Amino acid sequence: MSVPLALLGGKPAVPHPPAYSWPPITNSDTALLVQLLQRKELSYYGREGVVRELEEAFKVYFNVRYALAMSSGTAALHSAFFGVGLGEGDEVLAPTFTFLSTVMPIFVVNALPILVDAEPDTGNIDPADIERRITPQTKAVVITHMQGHACNMTRIMDLVRTYRLTLIEDCSHAHGASHQGRLLGTFGDASVFSLQGSKLVAGGQGGILLTNDQEIYERATLLGHFKVRAAEEVTSEKYRDFSGTGYGLNYRMHPFAAGLANEQFKRLDTYLNGRNENLLYLSSCLKDIPGIAPPVVRDYVTRHGWFTYRPIYKPHELKGLSLETYLKALQAEGVSIQKATSTPLHLEPLFQVEDDHSHTYGRSGHAYKSIRHRYRKGDLPQSEQYTQATCTIPPFTEPMPAIMDQFGEAFRKVAEYAHLLRDYESSDSSQPR
Ligand SMILES: *Cc1c(COP(=O)(O)O)cnc(C)c1O
Repeated sequence: MSVPLALLGGKPAVPHPPAYSWPPITNSDTALLVQLLQRKELSYYGREGVVRELEEAFKVYFNVRYALAMSSGTAALHSAFFGVGLGEGDEVLAPTFTFLSTVMPIFVVNALPILVDAEPDTGNIDPADIERRITPQTKAVVITHMQGHACNMTRIMDLVRTYRLTLIEDCSHAHGASHQGRLLGTFGDASVFSLQGSKLVAGGQGGILLTNDQEIYERATLLGHFKVRAAEEVTSEKYRDFSGTGYGLNYRMHPFAAGLANEQFKRLDTYLNGRNENLLYLSSCLKDIPGIAPPVVRDYVTRHGWFTYRPIYKPHELKGLSLETYLKALQAEGVSIQKATSTPLHLEPLFQVEDDHSHTYGRSGHAYKSIRHRYRKGDLPQSEQYTQATCTIPPFTEPMPAIMDQFGEAFRKVAEYAHLLRDYESSDSSQPR
């Protein structure tokens, strides 16, 4: 009898595994960058050129009053926290499961991040846990729409109104995604999109801050865009005198990055349509196969951003087969799947060691003993549970239904012959157990 599993010598279900590369670069992208180079358009002082074009495009798409391009998403988040006026003594509720940049700049404005648990199925910030952690010091909440799946905005907006909190949205996974028909990035007092090279709108390095609030915009402008741009854009009596110095940083975006991001942004809807078609089809192929659960999509998600595709391994459905062996078998079949590596932030060393004030910025006064909370394993259990069994498949953007069928076939084969893998696992002493 021939062995069906590729890991055990059989034929792979995906004979020609697709390569994932991001972003697509067209001739017009290349031509634009060459033009900028030839014109020596290497930096701007005012609100001009391709930076202005990028900001205008975002303002139109999101129907907001202000857009401010930045050197990175992290810089945009710092500017948002500074812009909304957070400072010493303020507590900011923030997801423990997110990219570090959602949280770390909170230290730079001397506020205190309070980490919040994740929903066990979507990985997004859990509204019930937000409410549990609100104190009289809570001023703001920052949320990330993880992998492009909207957070539960109905619940979150209720909390924001009830407790009068400032809301900052980190939309770095969610360009163009929506909740009940409303674009993500239009709920917050300020919202931020990274334009880093792996994101849906890729400029290479860059970010953008959106707001309808003049004061937030002016403060963010003064923080990172001194002189000409600040002089042009900061008009309120309270702030306009400070444009000549700004508030200390240079967070301007490089014109090359802005030009590329602008070209990519024109193709955002095409990218989103491709990912939605492809990955929802993949989910339909996986939905009845034991051992794997396709990513949950709540009914309030009217458009998913699919920054990555994260199915969850269910070992109990395959009699306890280890995740390592399961992935090894799928990879042998030609499926581009890996363990997702993200750790919840509360398990990172910075949040595990005693606060000695040397890792973070401000030395606070007497009223204020610690500017960083210390966490232990188990403190935010749902986020730990979510990250343990989560896998990742690249968000293939060009529709490829035949390949997705082969992926489905590979998962089905591995589930059907899991007993052979368990034998393999118990006989293979080199196997990590
Ligand atoms: C990428 C990312 C950022 C930061 O982006 P940079 O542009 O690399 O600074 C922030 N938040 C999230 C959720 C991200 O994925």
